[in-house]
Amino acid sequence: MKIKSAEFVVSNSNVEKCPKSRLPEYAFIGRSNVGKSSLINMLTSRKSLAKTSGRPGKTQLINHFLINKNWHLVDLPGYGYARVSKSAKKVFQKFITQYFAFREQLVTAFVLVDIRHEPQPIDLEFMQWLGENGIPFSIIFTKADKLRPKAIENHIEVYKNIMLETWEEVPNYFITSSSKDIGKEDVLEYIDGLNENFISN
Ligand code: GDP
Repeated sequence: MKIKSAEFVVSNSNVEKCPKSRLPEYAFIGRSNVGKSSLINMLTSRKSLAKTSGRPGKTQLINHFLINKNWHLVDLPGYGYARVSKSAKKVFQKFITQYFAFREQLVTAFVLVDIRHEPQPIDLEFMQWLGENGIPFSIIFTKADKLRPKAIENHIEVYKNIMLETWEEVPNYFITSSSKDIGKEDVLEYIDGLNENFISN
C-alpha cells in the first residue's frame, strides 16, 4: 500500500468523542518506549506524525490519524510506565478498556513488543485480555536492527513457546525496525488486505 496522505484528526481520552465515521481502524499499543511513535512514522513515511518523545507517559491519549482518506490509524497510550501514578493508571485502564469495548470499527490491534526482551508479563496479560474479549490482534516486534538474525529467531521461538502455553495458535506477527525500514510493507499489505474485506462486508 502506498501512503498518499496521513493527517492528524483528533486526540482525546473519551471513546465517545472518537471520530464518528465508519472507516476501518487499526490500533497500535505497547509499553512506553517500545518504539510505537517511530513505527507509526515509518509506516506513514512521515518524520513526526506521531510524536516520538523522551518523556514516556506524556502521551496518554487516543490519537486518530486518517490515512489515504480511507482508514484510521489509532495511536493508543503506552502502558506500563512505572512513573505514572496509580490513579493515572486507573483512568488509563478505563478509557482503553472502553475504547476496545465500544469501538466497532476497530479491525485489529497491533501489540508492539521490543524484540530484545524476554516476554514481559504485562504484554502477555494484555494479549490475554484482548483474546478473552474477542479482539483480534497481531504482534509487531520492534527494534529488530538491535539483534542479529540468529538472535531474532531465538527470541521469536521463545515468544512462540510462551504463547502456546495459553493459546492454541501463535498470533500473527511482524518483525520490524523503524531505524532500518524493516517490515513496513508487510504491515501495510496486511492492513490493505483487511481493508478490502472490511469494505466488501
Ligand atoms: P514510544 O514511546 O513507544 O512511542 O517509542 P519511540 O518511538 O519514541 O522510541 C523510543 C526509543 O526507541 C527512541 O529512543 C527511539 O529512537 C528508539 N527506537 C524506536 N524504534 C527503533 C528501532 O527500530 N530501532 C532502534 N535501534 N531504536 C528504535
